[in-house]
Parts: sequence; structure tokens; C-alpha cells
Amino acid sequence: MKIGKIELTQKDFDVLIIGGGGSGLRASLEISKTGLNVAVVSKVFPTRSHTVAAQGGITCAIASADPNDDWRWHMFDTIKGSDYIGDQNAIEYMCSEGPEAVFELEHLGLPFSRFENGRIYQRPFGGQSKEFGEGGQAARTCAAADRTGHALLHTLYQANLKEGTKFFNEWFAVDLVKDAKGNVNGVSCFDMETGEVSILKANAVVLATGGAGQVYEQNTTSLICTGDGLGMVSRSELPLQDMEMWQFHPTGLYGNGSLMTEGCRGEGGYLINSEGDRFMPNYAPKAKDLASRDVVSRCIVQEILAGRGCGDKKDHVLLKIDHLGADAIKQKLPEIREISMTFANVDPIKEPIPVVPTCHYMMGGIPTNVNGQVLKTDDLGKDIVVGGLYSIGEAANVSVHGANRLGGNSLLDLVVFGRAAGRHINESITKNEESILDRDSVENSVEILNRLLESKKGENVFDLRKKMQNVMQTYFGVYRNEKLMQEGINKLQEINRLSKDIHLRDKSNQFNSERVEILEFLNLLETANATAYSALERKESRGAHAREDFPNRDDNNWLCHSLYQKNGNKVSKRDVNLKPISVDAFKPKARVY
Ligand SMILES: Cc1cc2nc3c(=O)[nH]c(=O)nc-3n(C[C@H](O)[C@H](O)[C@H](O)COP(=O)(O)OP(=O)(O)OC[C@H]3O[C@@H](n4cnc5c(N)ncnc54)[C@H](O)[C@@H]3O)c2cc1C
Repeated sequence: MKIGKIELTQKDFDVLIIGGGGSGLRASLEISKTGLNVAVVSKVFPTRSHTVAAQGGITCAIASADPNDDWRWHMFDTIKGSDYIGDQNAIEYMCSEGPEAVFELEHLGLPFSRFENGRIYQRPFGGQSKEFGEGGQAARTCAAADRTGHALLHTLYQANLKEGTKFFNEWFAVDLVKDAKGNVNGVSCFDMETGEVSILKANAVVLATGGAGQVYEQNTTSLICTGDGLGMVSRSELPLQDMEMWQFHPTGLYGNGSLMTEGCRGEGGYLINSEGDRFMPNYAPKAKDLASRDVVSRCIVQEILAGRGCGDKKDHVLLKIDHLGADAIKQKLPEIREISMTFANVDPIKEPIPVVPTCHYMMGGIPTNVNGQVLKTDDLGKDIVVGGLYSIGEAANVSVHGANRLGGNSLLDLVVFGRAAGRHINESITKNEESILDRDSVENSVEILNRLLESKKGENVFDLRKKMQNVMQTYFGVYRNEKLMQEGINKLQEINRLSKDIHLRDKSNQFNSERVEILEFLNLLETANATAYSALERKESRGAHAREDFPNRDDNNWLCHSLYQKNGNKVSKRDVNLKPISVDAFKPKARVY
């Protein structure tokens, strides 16, 4: 089929998974096992997905460090961490299914670190407690040294090869394709090596495209984290949920952004200011440096604002781990040492590491139920499943992290909901089922590719991207207020206007990185818009969303999700699920660490 300047080929599958990170590969593994024809599309070689960078571990009550540990304690911590807008049914599902999902990884060969007795090693992480917050710090994060994501992703990739999963590596997915009834049944893609454009058709499409940390200037994420799945969904007139909620990790390497895992503090490290004082006990007397991430990030900003920041510019603090001793650092935090020596010229065995809060994780995303099915709402606010479309991993919002994610809970989210979506697809899709692509929808899905090929002059993507990242960093950072955000929105509107005129200078087919960067930028811009309007709308402070003009949490008006619609930049409310199945609901309480 030819549309505009583009010749399209078509390939048919039962299931398509867009994304070869931890969530995508866990889902494809589940589906491959049953014999459905499943393909994974990834714009990078799968083991280069951002999951490979996860350091600290995967949190789960496998009762290895503490034989009495209980998934309900993990559930309580996660709900409290979410500042009560995580869906309690989804959190219950993740925490109770988690142990089985982690043992599966162990049996697939994931090389976890071990305790002396041979059981999987677990370290303390922020926001973890025993006995529903009353029993002190728990140690619940299962780790493979400080390269857990690397071990997890390689294990899953190998398991997929064994099951015969089909891979389209270095293929870029552009937009969703639907049938005449509006059910999703394909994706437009191109092979980055040759430029060849295809419609990949399937009866279930899973968006496992990861986060969008590149929307901020300072972030810990890979260059490929550009929210492509969010862009696709938003352009299909489907909503995005809780997009105001961005996690700023307290310890990004100053000047570089690389992550210094929370495991540093889990192993006994702590933060100090320019006076050499350990300041976290002044803010969080019980949890100290292991208070949840939103809390620690705000405390660092307050220390800096009070003039106790370090360095010439007094704009960062220090993470001290030298007292742990050279042996412990080399054994448990080898990557951290290497990164800080390479990028900050600091050997943490001898001196503290300069750190600053840095954008790390997108709590918001594509709303789904616990089966990974994508949701929209009708006029009365009732949830409706979008036919054929699933989402999992950081791209999705199921929602287990609410307004603030606890460390180690993302890797768990990937494998628990990757598996759940795989199971649901196995139950609901039959092999070789027929469906028909809608011609208009196919045309729409390659419209941007044609437009770029025809562009003769206009805006440069690199300038626009830089401007957008700067606006997000300046106007939608750790602390927010109405005036600042309104100014930010005005600037974003200008960038939106200019982006309509974006110009592809390089029209070549092979490895055209400018084309990829433009498509990624347009997806980031969808993410930025969703963040900006949702943040302006939520008139309270909750979790990662800290407003100077509304400093308190307002459960009367805002114990709810926000839903952003691209059309008209509208933001509406959606109920939080406060009805777990096997335990009583956890009632919202003041959040103290
Ligand atoms: C530095 C760092 C450390 C972290 N440490 C931890 C930790 O210790 N514990 C924890 O629980 N969490 C951690 N996290 C968070 C966690 O790693 C991520 O949330 C998680 O790995 C995301 O996995 P994913 O499967 O959703 O997507 P990713 O691993 O990000 O993969 C996305 C996939 O989608 C593909 N893709 C995207 N767009 C397209 C497109 N248009 N076309 C084709 N393919 C596309 C990519 O090629 C890739 O394969 C960390 C995050 C960072 C950045």
C-alpha cells in the first residue's frame, strides 16, 4: 500500500509488544510460552533498554532478611509512600503476587546477591517498615549488587530467546492503528537501519515503552526515555493519568545527573550539608536518610535555600559513604564507585559524593487496570476498556506508585504486571484471529512521516528540545506555584506553536537519527503538556507535587487521580480505588517518617 510518499508493507502477528525493557520482556515471555505469535519491537537492542540501568534492587516481601516479613506491610508502605492516591487493589495485587514473580526470576537464573545462608540478599530502602510502620526499618529490597536491572534484563532476554520470541530490534514505533470500531489492531513502525515503513498488525498491542525522564534538563534516565507510548496514546485521544507526579531522586550525581542509588543510604550512607552536619534527622527523626524520596528531595532543596549548600555555588549537598569501609563499597556498591570516579572525579572510599535532586521517574502514565488493559472514561466518569490496547511498566499507570514511588517498586511493577498482562492476553486472544485495518487510521499513523519528508524549512528539533527541557526544569521542578506554572505554560504554548513547523533537514533513509529525534521530541512535548496542565490543576501538595501556594494535602477535594486529555488540554478527576479484596482498606493518614 502507498500513502503519500511512503510505501508500506504489512506484517501480521497475534500480539505486538512495543518495548524490550523489563516489562515488555516479562510479558512476551508469558505469551511466547503458550504458542501465540508474539513480536517485540524495540528502538534499541533490548538489553540496552533503561531497565539495564536499575541499580538498587527489586522490593518484595520474600522474607529473606526477616523471616516474619509480610506482603501486607509492604502494601501499607507502598500506599503511604503513594500519599494515598495509589490504587489499593493494584498495590495489593503487586505486593501479594510479588514473591512468586521474584522467585520465578531466581529460577530463570537471575544472579541475586546472597546472604551467608544462601538466601537472596535484601537491603533496607527508603519508606520501608515492619508492622505497618510501627516496627522500625525493614530490609526488603532484593539486589544483585548495585546492578539489579542489568541482571534482570539479561535474564529475561535470554529466557525469551529460549522460547522463540520474535524481535524487531532498532525499529521505531510511530503511532497506533485501529479497526473501524476503534479497537487498536496495529502500529506504524519503521526499521531504523533501512527506513522501510511497515504496519505491524496484531489483535493485542502492548505499550511497554518506558518513562519520559528526558522531559527535564537534569535527569537520571537514558536518552531513549522519551515517552513515545504516551505520545501515541495522547494523539489517539486517550487520557493520561497523574502526569503532575514526577519523582526527583534525592541523589543524582551533581553536574552529571547519573543516579547514586538509594542503596548507598540503605547500606548506611547519609547526607551532609556545607557545615558537615547530617541534616535529615532534623526533618525525619525516625526514618532519617531513608525517608521517602519526595521528602528527602525537598529537605535537600530547603538546606540549599537556607544557604547550607556545598561548593562555590552552594547548590548541592554531599552523600557520605566512606565510613562503610573500602571492602563494603567494593562489594556492594561497585558501580557507584566507578560512576563517581569517572564522572565526578571523586573516590567515595575517600571523600563524599556531590549530589542534587534529579528527575528520575514518571509516576503518571497510561491508565490501566490490573490486567494491563488501557482505560478511558465515559461522560459519567465510568471506566471503559480500550479494545486491543494494553500498557505496562513505567509507561503505564495501574496505579501502584500514586504520588510517590518507593525505591525498588518499579522493577517489581514491571515483572508483576508484565506477567499479568501476558496472562490476560493468553486468555483473551485466539491464534490467527482476523481483524481489518481501518484505512483512515493507517493514513493518520504515517501522516507525520509524510509531513517530515515534505518539510522544506522550519524549526530545528535540537533547539526546541532544549527549550522545552529548560521550561520543565525551571517551572515544573521540586517546588511549584500558580504564577510560575502559568508562566511555564505560556512558554510551552509557544514551543507547541513552533513545533508545528518542525523541519527534517536530513531526508535519507538509513539510520536517520534526526527523524528519530524529531519523533521523540514530539512525544516528549505531549508529556510536557500533560504534566504542565495537570500540575496547574492539582491545587494541593501531595507526594512529589509540592505547591508553595497550597502547602497542605487536601483529601476533601484531591484524594483522586487526575486525567489529562490532549483535546483542549482538559484535566478531570478519577476516583482512587480504596477497596482491596483480601484486607481492609488503609485509611488516609498524615504522612510522617
Ligand atoms: C538510573 C536508574 C536506576 C533505577 N534503579 C531502579 C531500581 O534499583 N529499582 C527499581 O525498582 N527501579 C529503578 N529504576 C526505575 C526502573 O528501572 C524503570 O522504571 C524501569 O526499568 C522501566 O522499565 P520499562 O520496561 O517500563 O521500560 P524501559 O526499560 O525503559 O524500556 C523501554 C523500551 O521501550 C522501547 N521503546 C520506547 N519507545 C519506543 C518506540 N517509539 N519504538 C520502539 N521501541 C520503543 C525501548 O527501546 C525499550 O526497549 C531506575 C531508573 C533509572 C533511570
